[in-house]
Amino acid sequence: MQTKNIIIIGAGPAGLSCAIELKKISNYNVIIIEKNPEISYKVCAGGISPNTFEIDIPKEIIDREFNEMSVFTKTQSIFIRENKAIVATINRKTLHEYMAKKAKELGVKILFKKNIKKINNQSVTTSLGEKFEFDYLIGADGSNSIVRKNLNIKTKKLLTAFQYMIPGNYSHIEFHIDPDEFGFSYAWVFPQKNVISVGTGYDLNFSKKDFSVMDLRNNFETWCKKKFNLENAKFEAFSINYDYRGFEFGNIFLAGDAAGFASGLTGEGIRFAILSGKDIARKIINPKYKVKEIKHILKIKKRGENLVKLINYNEFLGKKIIELFAFFLKTKIGKKLAAKVL
Ligand SMILES: Cc1cc2nc3c(=O)[nH]c(=O)nc-3n(C[C@H](O)[C@H](O)[C@H](O)COP(=O)(O)OP(=O)(O)OC[C@H]3O[C@@H](n4cnc5c(N)ncnc54)[C@H](O)[C@@H]3O)c2cc1C
Repeated sequence: MQTKNIIIIGAGPAGLSCAIELKKISNYNVIIIEKNPEISYKVCAGGISPNTFEIDIPKEIIDREFNEMSVFTKTQSIFIRENKAIVATINRKTLHEYMAKKAKELGVKILFKKNIKKINNQSVTTSLGEKFEFDYLIGADGSNSIVRKNLNIKTKKLLTAFQYMIPGNYSHIEFHIDPDEFGFSYAWVFPQKNVISVGTGYDLNFSKKDFSVMDLRNNFETWCKKKFNLENAKFEAFSINYDYRGFEFGNIFLAGDAAGFASGLTGEGIRFAILSGKDIARKIINPKYKVKEIKHILKIKKRGENLVKLINYNEFLGKKIIELFAFFLKTKIGKKLAAKVL
């Protein structure tokens, strides 16, 4: 096999999984270029579904596992308990460090403190003028992707997401769905090891005219203060791109949030970043590969985002659908339905 140069921008889950897969199945030179000075934390609640265990995340690096969770709506409190884990939490730095170690062992080079500013069909250039030539480029550079911008791909569907990281421990995973407080989205409580992520995310394109991002933040903060002591909490915010418009553009590919693979329903993106990165590696090595993971992600995204559209179509109807959906979560059929969009 002829050796080629592959440049991946971004050492997050999408970039790292792509690099690992490329090295597993080829002898290509794989370089990850990362703007941070080291493998870093990313603003995230760290919630993962047990399906993610099946994609190379060992249980040893999981923070906490839960076989129960609570869903609260305006009129219902639903408690779900299973005899196996249904949600887990992970620290993002731990995840990235684990994946980076694996990538390095396979021969991937990771270059830090290099902020890519310019891109053409053969090379990328950093803010300091360093140039790297490539045969293939993968933009795994997150929601504000410079590779995506360079391809002139618009981003219209974005979740504005924020969270408090509150020092301490909490026993429960919770979802709070209250359209009057958070719009047609939800607030989460995801306990990690010694810290609790409490946050919300919403696509403001769906909001009423007089509901701004500041209203969402104020409502969230008031709600949060009733439940938790925020004195030593850290406020964090970032966007989640779920505006998928393709992943393959000649010799340039987009993976993870850069491509908009996150779910517009839940904001979940770690699993989809890992899977899309893997599939892109397989596609580069074998152009006939049918990208089965990406097709699966797109199917889940479509179902979830259709549900979001339906809920937002009419406020009265939206509230009824949420209550009905929550009610059915107690049943086997409801759980099966939920699994199709999550
Ligand atoms: C508040 C919040 C809570 C969330 N909670 C969850 C959750 O509970 N579960 C879940 O599954 N998902 C969650 N997500 C979504 C999840 O964080 C993303 O979907 C996931 O990080 C996408 O991975 P990625 O590898 O595509 O991008 P990222 O993780 O964003 O990684 C991109 C990397 O590229 C680097 N980079 C960017 N630009 C450049 C450049 N120009 N040059 C060099 N390097 C660059 C960045 O430094 C970064 O390391 C949450 C997101 C937010 C904002």
